[in-house]
Amino acid sequence: MRFDYIVVGAGVAGCIIASRLSEDPANRVLLLEAGGKNDRLIVRMPAGTAYAYQTRALNWGYRSGPEPQLGNRELDEKRGRGIGGSAAINAMVFNRGNPNDFEDWKRSGLSEWGYANCLPYFRRMETFGGGANEWRGGDGPLRIRPGQADHILYDSFISGGEQAGHTYVSDHNAFRQEGVHREQAYIGNGLRWSAARGYLIPALERPNLTVWTDCYVNGIVIENGTARGVNVTRGGEDRQITCEREVVMCAGAFNTPQLLMLSGIGPADHLKALDIPLKLHVPRLGKDLENHPGFVLTYSIDERYSLARELGLVNRAALGLQWLWNKTGLAASNFYEVGAFLRTRSDLAAPNIQIEFMGLIRTLTGRGVKAAPGFTVYTCLTRPRSRGEVTLRSRDPRQQPSLVFNHLAERSDITDFIEAFRTTRAFFAQPAWEKLNAREIDPGPTVQTDADIEAFLRRNLGTHYHPSGTCKMGTGSEAVVDPAGRLRGIEGLRVADASVLPNTVCGNISASVAMVAEKLSDAIRGRTPLPPSNADYYRAVPA
Ligand SMILES: Cc1cc2nc3c(=O)[nH]c(=O)nc-3n(C[C@H](O)[C@H](O)[C@H](O)COP(=O)(O)OP(=O)(O)OC[C@H]3O[C@@H](n4cnc5c(N)ncnc54)[C@H](O)[C@@H]3O)c2cc1C
Repeated sequence: MRFDYIVVGAGVAGCIIASRLSEDPANRVLLLEAGGKNDRLIVRMPAGTAYAYQTRALNWGYRSGPEPQLGNRELDEKRGRGIGGSAAINAMVFNRGNPNDFEDWKRSGLSEWGYANCLPYFRRMETFGGGANEWRGGDGPLRIRPGQADHILYDSFISGGEQAGHTYVSDHNAFRQEGVHREQAYIGNGLRWSAARGYLIPALERPNLTVWTDCYVNGIVIENGTARGVNVTRGGEDRQITCEREVVMCAGAFNTPQLLMLSGIGPADHLKALDIPLKLHVPRLGKDLENHPGFVLTYSIDERYSLARELGLVNRAALGLQWLWNKTGLAASNFYEVGAFLRTRSDLAAPNIQIEFMGLIRTLTGRGVKAAPGFTVYTCLTRPRSRGEVTLRSRDPRQQPSLVFNHLAERSDITDFIEAFRTTRAFFAQPAWEKLNAREIDPGPTVQTDADIEAFLRRNLGTHYHPSGTCKMGTGSEAVVDPAGRLRGIEGLRVADASVLPNTVCGNISASVAMVAEKLSDAIRGRTPLPPSNADYYRAVPA
């Protein structure tokens, strides 16, 4: 068997890269994935998410930490495993990020990665259920469903947000992001519509695309400064697979740097300490780990308005049958139907916090889910300053790398979080919630002063599962990959997943990861980039 390209990891980026490269019948493409096929009901059914990510076979089950600013706690860090990657277990919320994020990429020296350059790729990748226009795509592989938001809880969220002084935005992924919105989701025909469904499954019939699941990549074969292939374990057998053009790393923001370091690429002192022969000293590989840290508030409400009433055991069975029958009803929802992007200070150029809302108090039991009346609010910082690091714990590719986020290491993140806490409380202290008798139950009235809030954060801060930046793209000497995703200093090796984001974006990151993979697929194929867009965007603080 001969291959031109080997793509490592069948997550968001890997499915897109393998699908786009194999569009050209002359390219022989091999996609390798450590996990299985993931064709399970709990993956296909949007409401199955909480079951999916508690299923060990679908999740790497990583932990971060000890986190020095959080009392040395370890944070649960779910990561998808198997076809679809983390998008087989994620919450399916679709947010592109704020145009300012990509303008920051451009300001950092990436002249071809400004908003005008990225927007055509965001459009190319999607079919937006709300219709195509200069911001939205109409015929791409990813189906994006506009929010349905049909419940008094969601109406209260929108009107309460307006009462708190925020603008309602009908499409927060178009001209204006800032404000309150109905969520959009990767759902089509009532199914989870991941990159696996949109890109990979339709490409499987191509004779030039080979996909191996349950194939564990242990490292990259590098000879004379060129990537020649990968070492894998499959069916209990270790073997080497070679390729004639490129190895494209799409194993995610933790496993891509891990595999590169295991292959001798990374900070020289770190590799030396583990007796890994050095192939290339890349000082910042594994550094610059970003994430969206966040806190949770829960509220009780009058039970008569509770969404949990619709999720008793009998109702759950009925909802499951309805979904099996015609893919409609609550089981076709991801339960994130409204949200907000807000600024906590008026001098900011773009939102610095995101609020996500679930119309339930949900308890995960390890395998199942319990739903109680009330609602849960998830607030995160969209562009935190603190940075973490991925390093190896050992030379064993099966051992989880060390992940330390360092959340709250920068004082400005604490200040922003204190403002975020107060802004979130004010958001839910509006007349729109009186009818539902909404009352904060956790953390509750004992947390009032800045010191109380900071202590609450250190005890409770968690992750929104958005790691990125461990193989940063850039033009300076510190960049790990160049603007075309090429690993600087090794021939035939690229990175095309969440690891390359030059800085994280304001919003759940998978849409940006998909956009980056789309754009890099053109670079790999040597195609002319799509022409820049002229579409305008909202500027909160005029330049
Ligand atoms: C619980 C959860 C909820 C989330 N919710 C959202 C959301 O609502 N909206 C959103 O936009 N984003 C969300 N995200 C984030 C989003 O899913 C990720 O940012 C995105 O999937 C990253 O894409 P990727 O291609 O970089 O990596 P992944 O999608 O994680 O894919 C990496 C793939 O590489 C494989 N791999 C790793 N190591 C090896 C190896 N050694 N050999 C072979 N294969 C390997 C993995 O098994 C995996 O399939 C969520 C993530 C999680 C975990």
